[in-house]
Amino acid sequence: MNADHGGSSPHRFGPARHLRTRVKVLPEHARGHNRALVLQTLFHNGAMSRADLSRETGLTRVTISDLVGEFIADGIVVEKGIRETTGPGKPPILIDIDRDGHRIVGIDLSGPGAFEGALLSLDGEVLERREVPRPSGGTAAYEAVRALADELLSLSTAPVLGVGVGAPGIVRSDGLVLSSPNLDWTDFPLERLLSAALDLPVLVRNDANAAVLAEYTFGQARADMLLVKVGRGVGAGLISDSQPLVGSRFAAGEIGHVVVGTDGGPRCACGRDGCLEAWLSASTLRARIADAAPEEREAVLHDAGVRLGIGIAPIVAALDLSEIVLSGPADLLDGTLIEAATRTLAERTLEGVYDDVVIRLTAQKDIVLRGAAVMVLSSQLGVS
Ligand SMILES: [Zn+2]
Repeated sequence: MNADHGGSSPHRFGPARHLRTRVKVLPEHARGHNRALVLQTLFHNGAMSRADLSRETGLTRVTISDLVGEFIADGIVVEKGIRETTGPGKPPILIDIDRDGHRIVGIDLSGPGAFEGALLSLDGEVLERREVPRPSGGTAAYEAVRALADELLSLSTAPVLGVGVGAPGIVRSDGLVLSSPNLDWTDFPLERLLSAALDLPVLVRNDANAAVLAEYTFGQARADMLLVKVGRGVGAGLISDSQPLVGSRFAAGEIGHVVVGTDGGPRCACGRDGCLEAWLSASTLRARIADAAPEEREAVLHDAGVRLGIGIAPIVAALDLSEIVLSGPADLLDGTLIEAATRTLAERTLEGVYDDVVIRLTAQKDIVLRGAAVMVLSSQLGVS
């Protein structure tokens, strides 16, 4: 069990807020909107009475009563007994999302050596964990994902809401992997195949786009944030004004192969010199530190931080971001590297405007697995 997900509230969620969608809620969608609002409120506040729920959401008691009745019939919400009161009148019955009655399967295909999977609670807590050695790619990779999902599903003693998968590469919004060189997949319909094989809702998204959702829902993230995931490669997920940004090519946040600077730099796997990934990926940093004299270690990390600052400065300015969150090895990222990036960002953006932008390391463990859980929560319950 992983209890390391921060926060002191008994529900362990961040502030109650909803990922906004670009679609305006039309009258015929009002009911769906109200359903999501009620579940979102319960998700972040925990057990409460129907009267509290009405007050909190601004919906009438009658509407709340109807919706809660439906949720209870569907098995999504349960009554949790009565609240102890000293005042007069009938003590209210508390209701909550049936957190013990459902599970989510999350899978992370971005690790260097293994595909990792977990059975998670609705609160994003890892209950069971399994992994399989990373196959070379292609069909073997698909079979490995499917076997891992099957195994995790067999471990669940409660109904599973769905399966979320974070995959390296460019992933379309219907879960078709357009391109993943790491997994040797091109136009690979992972979401459709897996959903048919498992007979469950499946969501497949880019790993960094999954990670940014975990930070948003379970972390203390702000509404305008870039999450930079540093591993074998470098990728990023974006949330702007509480909306996930994916882009028309589904490639928003693909900053790893942006050349940072005009003075060359280390040779990148893509063949160019000086890509952000060639400066910053965990594997490159470890190799460069191993090659350097011990006293040069800080200089290597400092250089990587400067290049990160150069890379993110125009993004911060274009989107007016509040926060840059890094996910990756703390021994490399924390300290010198983040300090250099923060200084570089300040030097390269308009003085007095972006002074309060924070660059920090995430506190989230299993960030892709937990982000995959948010994908399922968001698609199945409208909760994020
Ligand atoms: Zn490159």
